[in-house]
Amino acid sequence: MFKSWLSAFIHLIYPHNCEGCGTDIVNDKSFLCTKCLYQLPKTGFIANGNNPIEKKLYGRIKIEHAGAGFYFSKDGLLQHLVTQLKYKNNKEMGLYLGRLLGHQLQATHRFDGVEVLIPLPLNDKKLSKRGYNQAELICKGIASVWNKPIITDSVIRLIDTATQTNKSLTDRWDNMEGAFAIADTSKVEGKHVALIDDIITTCASIESCGQELLKIKGVKLSVVSVGFTT
Ligand SMILES: [Zn+2]
Repeated sequence: MFKSWLSAFIHLIYPHNCEGCGTDIVNDKSFLCTKCLYQLPKTGFIANGNNPIEKKLYGRIKIEHAGAGFYFSKDGLLQHLVTQLKYKNNKEMGLYLGRLLGHQLQATHRFDGVEVLIPLPLNDKKLSKRGYNQAELICKGIASVWNKPIITDSVIRLIDTATQTNKSLTDRWDNMEGAFAIADTSKVEGKHVALIDDIITTCASIESCGQELLKIKGVKLSVVSVGFTT
């Protein structure tokens, strides 16, 4: 009784609004009202093999499965949510997006063989600037609904590839070589790992990091992201 009164009171002082349409929402763990959540563009292909991400990776890296939860478009609702996560210090948003993705992963049984989640790492400089790895928060959200352990110390990032946006695509590809390195193999040896990222675009970082993980004995690799854009 007191608890529900208290939460109603807190809600009155700190109203919680939908990030999509601004309407007042009662569930403070959600960032979208039911209507906006419904409008978030699901890819629908997380349940299907031979989807656009798997096609992109085909012939470049050996993967078991790949998928993404939603389409990401410039100025779209998902971009707004991801901006909150990456540039507005909204860590709860990472958990929220992770939960949405986790429900999709749980619903399709295609990824059931996955044993551990590995967030795509940031390099030290980027990590200390942002204060957190958004992909790790997404993993925590996923794990809260789809119970899998998260491993963060198996692979590290040496080079920040995102700062190279003014370079040509070919240059960026070349620079990807050696961007990641294996740190500790003990927790992932012989495991099926899912490498998790926020948005997949070119797959360059995923491929580079994935290649390092595949050097570990017995590792099988799947790739999953919240958003996908061509
Ligand atoms: Zn809304």
